[in-house]
Amino acid sequence: MSKPLFADVILPLPLRDKFTYLVPASFEPNMKLGVRVIVQFGARKYFSALVYRLHQEPPSGDFDLKSIDAILDKEPIVNQAQIIAWEWVADYYCCSLGEVFKAALPSALKLESQSNVSFNPNFNMEEELTGEEEALLLMLQGRGQANIKEINQFLGRNSSYATLKVLLEKNAILIEEKLKDSYKPKTIGVVKLADQFSTPKAIEAAFEGIGRAKKQRELLEYFLAETVFSKESQNSLTKKELLEQTGISDAVLKAVVDKGILMVEDVEIGRLIQNHTEEQFLYELNEAQEKALGQVKDGFQSKRPVLLHGVTSSGKTEVYIKLIEEVLAQNKQVLYLVPEIGLTSQLNNRLKRAFGDRAGIYHSKFNDAERVEIWFNILEDKEDAYQVVLGARSAVFLPFKKLGLIIVDEEHENSYKQFDPAPRYHARDMAVVLGQIHKAPVLLGTATPSFESYFNARLKKYALVELKERFQGIELPEIVVADIRKATRQRQMKSLLTPELYDEVKHALEKEEQVILFQNRRGFAPYMQCTSCGWIPKCQNCDVSLTYHKYRSSLVCHYCGHTTSLPGTCGECHSDDIRTKGYGTEQIEEELGILFPEARVARMDLDTTRAKRSFDQLIYKFETKQIDILVGTQMVTKGLDFEHVRVVGILNADQMLNYPDFRSFERSFQLMAQVSGRAGRKNKRGKVVIQTSQPTHEVLAEVASNSFDLLFNRQMLERKLFRYPPYFRLVKIVVKHKNRERLDLGANQLAAALRKLFVNQVLGPEYPVISRVQTWYQKEIWLKLDKNKQLSPAKKQLMDVIGQIKGLPNNGGLIIYVDVDPM
Ligand code: ADP
Ligand code: ZN
Ligand code: ZN
Repeated sequence: MSKPLFADVILPLPLRDKFTYLVPASFEPNMKLGVRVIVQFGARKYFSALVYRLHQEPPSGDFDLKSIDAILDKEPIVNQAQIIAWEWVADYYCCSLGEVFKAALPSALKLESQSNVSFNPNFNMEEELTGEEEALLLMLQGRGQANIKEINQFLGRNSSYATLKVLLEKNAILIEEKLKDSYKPKTIGVVKLADQFSTPKAIEAAFEGIGRAKKQRELLEYFLAETVFSKESQNSLTKKELLEQTGISDAVLKAVVDKGILMVEDVEIGRLIQNHTEEQFLYELNEAQEKALGQVKDGFQSKRPVLLHGVTSSGKTEVYIKLIEEVLAQNKQVLYLVPEIGLTSQLNNRLKRAFGDRAGIYHSKFNDAERVEIWFNILEDKEDAYQVVLGARSAVFLPFKKLGLIIVDEEHENSYKQFDPAPRYHARDMAVVLGQIHKAPVLLGTATPSFESYFNARLKKYALVELKERFQGIELPEIVVADIRKATRQRQMKSLLTPELYDEVKHALEKEEQVILFQNRRGFAPYMQCTSCGWIPKCQNCDVSLTYHKYRSSLVCHYCGHTTSLPGTCGECHSDDIRTKGYGTEQIEEELGILFPEARVARMDLDTTRAKRSFDQLIYKFETKQIDILVGTQMVTKGLDFEHVRVVGILNADQMLNYPDFRSFERSFQLMAQVSGRAGRKNKRGKVVIQTSQPTHEVLAEVASNSFDLLFNRQMLERKLFRYPPYFRLVKIVVKHKNRERLDLGANQLAAALRKLFVNQVLGPEYPVISRVQTWYQKEIWLKLDKNKQLSPAKKQLMDVIGQIKGLPNNGGLIIYVDVDPM
């Protein structure tokens, strides 16, 4: 008899890396690295785990060795490059491979005991089934659905995965498919000429068909003038536009459609915007872009990541598109990362224009079925697989086989960093590692580099390419700093607007140009306060004041979602004079309605974009000038490209500048420069008004003169002096407990132990700005590690100490997690 085979598997758990199981002899022929198996873990829990290593060394120690219950896949569902990347993530960010596995796979690929199983209504029960299979299906039909535990009970077994696997293959059941129906892409009616009317002759015939129906004729004339006979010769109009512009009723359109002259199609909004022509084309680059393209390629030759520092609207995206084209010609894949899901649809249109269906989106808001499909398309490199994947953070985990280029757009954005749960990875930094693994060039692009990347460029670790001119030589917007205090003193404020901003908005509206107003607070007012005693309503679970949301007429905690009604009287002194303080986007929207009653105002923040397509819809409406003023939080600052925005207003720069964080000036600059960059992108120079009560603040001067280098040099002196990144490596250790005293005790023990190991490198423990979130008190300890020293040993020591502290008898209920390179 041959020696038994063992499999080390990765479980989707925050536990140590690998667990060993016996491979039953009957499974051996089908066993492969990278397939999923069902294993039992703990007394009665089952998981799908990933086979990581196969070997013949019996595990040491006398524990009860379990066998693998079932093999789920014929072929591996991950590739070797992915595993290498996962190992890097686990090692660098101090987490388990299981946590990375969990983050990487679409959840449909991670069967767990809680997974819901239901009968597939399309399944034909006449098919050949075993008695057990039939019984199970009848049960599921009857109950609607059951979870795996219930199914185990029903079958009287510890594991029913093998049976479920067979039924899954027969398409008889569905697992966790409830997401599927919730995905309905938002569509819009688009009017086109019917195919047979595409020649001038045929069009004449069409008019004959209409005869003397005046309205129908008018409609068709307008349609033709705007489409085939227009300069852009696009082939379609939205139904909405057609009806609105002509003032003709839907019934008339229907009549023309019934005559077979025009047709109406439902098209997804995302695909529509650039739908001027079906043909794919690339713009010619101008001289500056051409030069930058050459330099980027030279940078790639030197095997370093390239940082493309190009002012807003310099045409970076078009440079990316040229590079992508060349990579596709070599039959390789491209990963194009953006910091926010919201950015994907506008960019997707630009990519579709260039690459048609070879480009597509992948992100976590897609439903599971779609994500699994994209996963396998890429893994197996199928005919219709995306060659260019546009995605947010999680796209770094896709099973790429032959990456030829990675683009990280808006590389400075901190939403690239996963905050919670583990793995707390930075997708930009992981992109650089992926580039090494795949030997693929990496391009980081931004108008406002992160200090980390700019520093790397200074050190020549990255090649630096600059694009200093806006496309078509449009000047960067003129930036005016407006003094809120002075205007208030002189009683010149128009509600929340300084006279400077008010005038600009007014002029823009008169000229039918658009306006973006930025305020990084959603809700109506950040807090309420009693005028007699100063009492502020706070969240019962968190150490934060509650935000007033007028449209819901309630107070909401932005950290835990806790909602209460408005207090009628003060919680301390029972006075009934409680007023709102400060203002958020909701209030600005309301005030604008009073100041500019004619203007069409819309708001873009978390509250208005929760629904799946609402973000895209807002953008679409703004692009098509159905909105005059867009009020928003940082959502409006990111790389969006609007043609008609003339004026950008930043309502209050003070909050950002005064935020207590070593990165607050860097962030303020980025945010203000980015939001300013939305103004005057085409045709004409834009204008930006920054409202502040610190008009002489040096960061404002630097934003106004676009002096990134000045800010960088000045701030870097401080970073060095106070030992912050990018000179030092920060590791944040967060300690949480529901009980404040127990937290203090545990955090102090941990800090003391760390101080012995990392002499002079430990800060804290201290309460962060918000000391209690969702009923958990929290404290932070910061390690400032020397960047030149090896990191792995330090991290190992750190994790060991954390393990010891957690194990102390007084520390039950203590949560400790580690965040490497926190943002
Ligand atoms: P960035 O990414 O640097 O902010 P974009 O790539 O969005 O800039 O370019 C700004 C605008 O100019 C876009 O609307 C884009 O379509 C247009 N544009 C840029 N380069 C070209 C080009 N070479 N030909 C035609 N239009 C261009
Ligand atoms: Zn009071
Ligand atoms: Zn709360």
